[in-house]
Amino acid sequence: MKTMKVSIFSYLIFTSLIAFAQPKEAVENWKGKKVLLIGAHPDDDHQSHGTLAMLNKNGNEIYILTMSTGNVGTKDTKLGKDDLAKIRRIEQLDAMKQIGLSEDRYINLGYDDGRLEFANKEEAIGKLVYYIRKLKPDVLMAFDPGYNYQVWHKSDHRAAAYLAADAVRAAEWPLMYEGHIIQDKLEAHVIPEFLFYGGNVSDKNTIVDITDFVDQRVNAGSKYVSQWTSGWNNYLGHDIENYPAAEKEKLFNKIKGRIKVIDGKFVERFRYHQGAPDSMGHGPRD
Ligand SMILES: [Zn+2]
Repeated sequence: MKTMKVSIFSYLIFTSLIAFAQPKEAVENWKGKKVLLIGAHPDDDHQSHGTLAMLNKNGNEIYILTMSTGNVGTKDTKLGKDDLAKIRRIEQLDAMKQIGLSEDRYINLGYDDGRLEFANKEEAIGKLVYYIRKLKPDVLMAFDPGYNYQVWHKSDHRAAAYLAADAVRAAEWPLMYEGHIIQDKLEAHVIPEFLFYGGNVSDKNTIVDITDFVDQRVNAGSKYVSQWTSGWNNYLGHDIENYPAAEKEKLFNKIKGRIKVIDGKFVERFRYHQGAPDSMGHGPRD
């Protein structure tokens, strides 16, 4: 019984801390913010496409930064890495168009897919710091590096999670990557708010109602034909109409079926953090 009471007490403390971290202003009401999303692959932003479509419609300025070209993910032996990099770029830009974002909102750092963990870490962080200082985002969206413990992600995702977190911290110190300040005339920048995606459900503290943006998310997802259709094994071009007849409906149903539904509403869930980058991954400590 005592153990149960302690468990309930711990749960209440934990949930109140998580609840405390939620944005004062609901994400649905955000306006005029600059948002930078950092992902590893040209489809990592998809799980946030409803939120991004909504933020874009509400007058926020969205940028997508993808670290790799996505030039490895295929089972089609006819495709080489250069072919795939081009295909993934076109798919990414087509998907972004569906949520209202044009090519000038896209940055690709050009790293090889599947090997982000082996990229030169100082160089990769420097590139991220450069874009953070150049764009000066109010909000960073990134793979969740974890809350109190590291979150396991597959290889490029875990690299992107930690490279982004480390870059956020470095960007605030003018004597780190000081060439940006001295030569590029940029300023050190502190990102005040974070929406982490892809983390543990128990760490997520923010639910965004994307019901009105489901169609945009589904249409955006339908552009990834080289990944999410039989194009994975046998790529037949960008147009879904080139693929076997049932594919289109199957793809749309698959994409819609992946969206979380809570209380009859379609949602995307995040871990929100506000405050110093140093504390983005943990609660209060002594
Ligand atoms: Zn990915």
